[in-house]
Amino acid sequence: MSISQLARANVLALEPYQSARRLGGKGDVWLNANEYPLPPAFGPRPGNLNRYPACQPEGVINNYAAYAGLRPDQVLACRGADEAIELLIRAFCEPGHDAVLFCPPTYGMYSVSAETFGVARRTVPARDDWQLDMPAIEARLDGVKLVYVCSPNNPTGTVIRPDDIKRLLELTRGRALVVADEAYIEFCPQATLAGWLADYPHLVILRTLSKAFALAGLRCGFALAGAEVIQLLLKVIAPYPLPLPVADIAEQALSADGLALMRARVAEITATRDWLAGALRGCDCVLEVYPGAGNYLLARFDPASHAFKALWDQGIILRNQSAQPGLQECLRITIGTRNECERVVNALRALTATVDSPRKEAM
Ligand SMILES: *Cc1c(COP(=O)(O)O)cnc(C)c1O
Repeated sequence: MSISQLARANVLALEPYQSARRLGGKGDVWLNANEYPLPPAFGPRPGNLNRYPACQPEGVINNYAAYAGLRPDQVLACRGADEAIELLIRAFCEPGHDAVLFCPPTYGMYSVSAETFGVARRTVPARDDWQLDMPAIEARLDGVKLVYVCSPNNPTGTVIRPDDIKRLLELTRGRALVVADEAYIEFCPQATLAGWLADYPHLVILRTLSKAFALAGLRCGFALAGAEVIQLLLKVIAPYPLPLPVADIAEQALSADGLALMRARVAEITATRDWLAGALRGCDCVLEVYPGAGNYLLARFDPASHAFKALWDQGIILRNQSAQPGLQECLRITIGTRNECERVVNALRALTATVDSPRKEAM
């Protein structure tokens, strides 16, 4: 028997998540993973590395709870929001029986994590304006245990209408959990659903230090929920999910000084994003720039492959989203430094739109 014949059938069939790192590229302008463009100045303080760390380090949990306006028993710290996506499936979904529901185009890990555990994936495509298709979701909730809603949505940048999420919470009460992925919420803090946790014991909110906190390399994220959900997640999490240096840096990033730095970064990225959106609209090869609430913009190109390749060859690496449903000819551009965004615009201005594809004026 070959080794691969020993693997589970769904793992053999699995298409792994195409992370920006796996896709590679040789560049000096990395705008394909929604990272912050510059490294923050944190470093680990000396500690007792001979000892196992706490499962849920108090300093991290208390700081995050204070930041989110919650009690510490409503916060779980884990190895990035990605781990929380997976812990929820492990704690709530019976393989071969339960399903998770999500609305493409959206973040890819909901699908990959469900598939890894042999849990059915039910997809309800978003509407043309990338809001939730509520009647279609309502018709397909049977057997669903988890509904993942990403807001602001990656990669479209759409903030999902709160009324629709409220309706979804009413529809799922006693039947399923609604998981609001708020990985980008620091860029539109007024849109958080954290205040709703008191009313909905089946609401879970995912957060991360990877985006606005500029710590993608740290691998630290959070699940926010009622204490009952948190206790169940603590049953399935690894005994020592956060390495000591990670907990130490996370605690610093969530201190008053750390939060002030984060808010300054958000203000700067938001200003650059608004500048980039205007500049892109002036490029001949750009058909449409969608309003984006995160640290990235989605734009439709004429055509996308041409722009993507031309920039790639100049060491400017964007994310091609054309393979996602409804996103033909779309590229996602992470907001880097002002200088990096100017390089994107200069490179695009130098392109002439291809003659045989529909021009902007004709659309
Ligand atoms: C980046 C991202 C994550 C993963 O965050 P990590 O904490 O780095 O694992 C989760 N959800 C969305 C929507 C993201 O864009």
